[in-house]
Amino acid sequence: MTVKTRFAPSPTGYLHVGGARTALYSWLYAKSQGGEFVLRIEDTDIERSTQEAVDAILEGMQWMGLDWDEGPYYQTKRFDRYNEMVDQLLAEDKAYKCYASKELLDEIRAEQEANKEMARYDANHPKIVAVNQAAKDGDPCVIRFRNPKEGSVVFEDQIRGRIEISNSQLDDLIIRRTDGSPTYNFCVVVDDWDMGITHVVRGEDHINNTPRQINIYEALGAPVPTFAHCAMILGDDGAKLSKRHGAVSVMQYRDEGYLPNALNNYLVRLGWSHGDQEIFSREEMIEFFSLNAISKSASAFNTDKLLWLNNHYIKTSEPEYVAEHLQWHLDNQNINIENGPAITDVIKLVGERCHTLIELAEQSRYFYEDFSEFEAGAAKKHLRGVAKGPLELALSKVEALSDWSTENLHGVIAQVCEELEIGMGKIGMPLRVAVTGGGQSPSVDAVMQLIGQERVIARIKMALAFIAEREANA
Ligand code: GLU
Repeated sequence: MTVKTRFAPSPTGYLHVGGARTALYSWLYAKSQGGEFVLRIEDTDIERSTQEAVDAILEGMQWMGLDWDEGPYYQTKRFDRYNEMVDQLLAEDKAYKCYASKELLDEIRAEQEANKEMARYDANHPKIVAVNQAAKDGDPCVIRFRNPKEGSVVFEDQIRGRIEISNSQLDDLIIRRTDGSPTYNFCVVVDDWDMGITHVVRGEDHINNTPRQINIYEALGAPVPTFAHCAMILGDDGAKLSKRHGAVSVMQYRDEGYLPNALNNYLVRLGWSHGDQEIFSREEMIEFFSLNAISKSASAFNTDKLLWLNNHYIKTSEPEYVAEHLQWHLDNQNINIENGPAITDVIKLVGERCHTLIELAEQSRYFYEDFSEFEAGAAKKHLRGVAKGPLELALSKVEALSDWSTENLHGVIAQVCEELEIGMGKIGMPLRVAVTGGGQSPSVDAVMQLIGQERVIARIKMALAFIAEREANA
């Protein structure tokens, strides 16, 4: 049997991290079994579904790298098929027309509540029987599924274990509304059957639908897939994850400077484990993933851990991969990298200091853009009279360098220290502020090498002019 899984979002909003994790687990399970992954857009709720949300979901999936083998299928394009199946169940008497009005159902529910009975639809209630007997063909009606009355539904959830629900707790579900539209629980079953889905991985919020859906599979004569219901994601305060906790949309993580591989690694560990391993390459995730190692309990989102992972991925990924995702942030911050060093070299040098791509873009700026002012605090501290001599000597030496290498620039700094008998800090810090504009950067020789000779010379001159002006004003 070829494993086939699916992700079936309703396009009523962006792709949020909970959905993204479900999609990731479903995708991983398919990949781990050499199977296929289907994307299905469940857009039957026409009022709440939007094209924007569809686009946002597709963009989120693509950004995460969760590619689908089939789809996207759209439920709104499959109404004929659902209706064909509703009609089949009607013909087989596994479904029936019910003419009871909403008002009547409300009245019956109120009675049941007053009698402290379980409020539920009861096809044998005398008032419903009377209405249905009196109805004429063509009167408005819904179609209800004839749920079995005896026995129970049992299934082996891959995450939660054996689940058993008595049929006495399940009423006759509406499968086609008065307006002729099929309902969610029915469409899902027909789709999962038609699409050959073998494993349904979805959120725990659907667990109550599963027994009802299993009865529908059986009525249709369709094989019942295996189910795995994932627990919720909570915020770090233990409440259900929501906007209040910060980013919840996957694309917002892009905007906040996360690499998709870091978010995927974070999400895979949020509720799944393989020993105590924290870092997983995509290949490792696929190799080790299994449904029964997914945790039954809810997991709490931890932004610090995500930041730690993001830093790890910025440091250790191929610089080309980081560059591909950094470009969005460079554009966003208006940094043009055409006139300057290869961005991959800047990433190799600066990346390890950064937890997000926003920081990495910010710290890339001085390699590509000249500045007209030094950072006030750093200049005040390091561009003082005492720095004049060391900077002048360094300037003459960098001007004379014919081979612009990090080693030679290291040599320049060492010679300045030696000739003037000063410690490294007395030239290193003024030079850093001169060439980067601020007081923090990676090793200044490597930084200067990437900035390039012409710019370094101009910036040291600018620092000397700054010191001269400061002394004149003193
Ligand atoms: N469309 C449902 C949702 O967005 C998912 C249904 C399913 O996975 O069976 O929550």
